[in-house]
Amino acid sequence: MSTLRAAIAALLTIPALSILDAAPIQLPDFRMAAQIAHFDVTCPPEFDAAAAVIGRRAEVAYQRVSSMLRHDLSFRPLLVLFATRADQMRAIDTRTIPGNREHVLLTLDTPDARLDGQLVHDLSHVFLFDALAPGRHHDVPVWVLEGLAEHQRGEWDANDLAMLKSLVGSGTLPPLSAIELGQVENQNGAVFGHAAFDFLTLRAGSDGLRLFFEALRANPAGNPTAAYIATVGLSGADFDRAFAAYLKARL
Ligand SMILES: [Zn+2]
Repeated sequence: MSTLRAAIAALLTIPALSILDAAPIQLPDFRMAAQIAHFDVTCPPEFDAAAAVIGRRAEVAYQRVSSMLRHDLSFRPLLVLFATRADQMRAIDTRTIPGNREHVLLTLDTPDARLDGQLVHDLSHVFLFDALAPGRHHDVPVWVLEGLAEHQRGEWDANDLAMLKSLVGSGTLPPLSAIELGQVENQNGAVFGHAAFDFLTLRAGSDGLRLFFEALRANPAGNPTAAYIATVGLSGADFDRAFAAYLKARL
């Protein structure tokens, strides 16, 4: 998932990749290649040398996400390394992902410059699912799931930024009311979400994400959209006006 668009496409075509949802298709047996702080790492034997290196980079990503949210995971994820994206897709299709617990899937053909950001993005999903009740896992709004992950990754993909500019320029950025009702195309929602979490952090400072997660954990079966609105402290037309002003100044 090197771009937000690809991430959404994968999310829509392979719902099993939604971390905890993936549990039923995993196999109980796996070969431990490395244990690094918060992770166990598994991979084909020929990549053992990479396991410790990637594990340490995953730990750096973990610390970044954890410090933003002031939270530690309640479980120990399994980091599964595949040689290529094709190998990963084959494992998903054939239900042969090793391990029977929450995992992060990573392919070793990920461009090195994108690897750390990809780990942060994927770990954002893991932390979000950890905060939510299991019954909510199948119903996380894409704008929260992907918007939060891209915000935490900390970079705007060029295509996503172009889409945001287009939506704002044409006056078709979804209003909060449409987001609340889920009446938004996933891709537009994801771009809205990335900008919305940027906006939250601007308003609430470095505590913004921590407060959002506290609101989630206070009502883990609730709709994350409500937690966001409570945290940002604006709703309805007030939010739309302030958000539009923020975007106008930013873009
Ligand atoms: Zn994602």
